[in-house]
Amino acid sequence: MENTIEGNKELNTSTITVGGVYNLLCDSINNEDNRSVVRLGRVDPTDNPLFRTTTVALDAITRAVHSYNFNCYPPTLGLLEAKSAVADHLSSNLPHKLSAEDVFLTIGGTQAIDIILPSVSRPGANILLPKPGYPHYDLRATRSLLEIRHYDLLPKRGWEVDLDSLEALADENTVAIVIISPSSPCGNVFTYEQLKRVAEIASKLGIFVISDEVYAHVAFGSKPFVPMGEFSSIVPVITIGSLSKRWFIPGWRIGWLAICDPHGIFKKSGVVTKIIENLEITSDPPTIVQLVCTLQAAIPEILKKTTEDFHSNNLMILREVANIFYEGCEEIPCLTCPHKPDGAMVTMVEIDLSQLEGIVDDVQFCTKLAKEESVILYPGVAVGLKNWLRFSLAVDASDLKDGLSRIKAFSLRHAKMS
Ligand SMILES: *Cc1c(COP(=O)(O)O)cnc(C)c1O
Repeated sequence: MENTIEGNKELNTSTITVGGVYNLLCDSINNEDNRSVVRLGRVDPTDNPLFRTTTVALDAITRAVHSYNFNCYPPTLGLLEAKSAVADHLSSNLPHKLSAEDVFLTIGGTQAIDIILPSVSRPGANILLPKPGYPHYDLRATRSLLEIRHYDLLPKRGWEVDLDSLEALADENTVAIVIISPSSPCGNVFTYEQLKRVAEIASKLGIFVISDEVYAHVAFGSKPFVPMGEFSSIVPVITIGSLSKRWFIPGWRIGWLAICDPHGIFKKSGVVTKIIENLEITSDPPTIVQLVCTLQAAIPEILKKTTEDFHSNNLMILREVANIFYEGCEEIPCLTCPHKPDGAMVTMVEIDLSQLEGIVDDVQFCTKLAKEESVILYPGVAVGLKNWLRFSLAVDASDLKDGLSRIKAFSLRHAKMS
């Protein structure tokens, strides 16, 4: 029992990783019926064969390798040209321009989280995290001795931040609020007004904003993506970025963190010094390796030469997948999608357990679904919302259709007789 997800009593967001849940569900698959496995759980854009990175990225790497110039040990704080390129890339959408020294290259967005959370931590501190959210924050906050306080994202209001609860949650020991924009796992794009309100409240509370923009510009509905750095004159903001999702190269592990802080508050508070220390020396094995020099050398070309067509075509594909997903969900009586996804590559759906016989919660739903239908879906509890499901939209449209029809068959089979 211990190795199965149902036997895992410790299943909560501060002790699990997304990868851990994924592995446990894969173990539940019944290998005896030779059915193809439909993976709608993990968010890896390379799961959709249409999501191939641009040749600009491949050429940039090849050129860097063939130049022999980047076989050196990488500089600890990142290659200057790469940092400048990221600063330029971000500045094109910001009122306050960033420079290379505001940017630190990291091993994916993940290492940025690993570096930032301990850098803002101090004895007795707490941090505001979204619910539902991205479990790596909960994990890293716990390890950084930050007390976690969750604020709600409101499904009935298109997953807006529950602004009213923020002030009640925070106290004099609150150091920061994390916002994931566009939202993983909800799949919504926050409006300019929403983000501005978050900035204003954070400013009033005297806390920093950490804005996870790993899905920056992945907005395929009517609302445009607004970077939190837009409001950095109101409140100091650290943004997290990555090429993993938007360029479909999660395996390259290219990410960054950027300090958007025209008033120099982070510097004064010592957070920047801590970030540098944590990048330079860390006893934590996963963070000890620096992003290899060749990859850093490719960043300027990737950011500057990727065409608009590449991005707009990908948004079109995501829009189509989101439509298929939303329509497919409406056909499944026990599932409700409160908000048609219009950003990021992932979304949440509520299970109405009262319609089902013999299924007590989301974990059991997912385990039985894996066993009976070879479909892998994420239980909402893994991202902080019990009895919901997390769907990846970074999947092949025909896999999605197949998966949804298996889920429909599953839920009809388990429906309560009325
Ligand atoms: C994928 C993801 C990350 C991690 O990014 P990598 O570049 O893959 O390390 C961080 N935050 C969110 C919200 C993500 O979806």
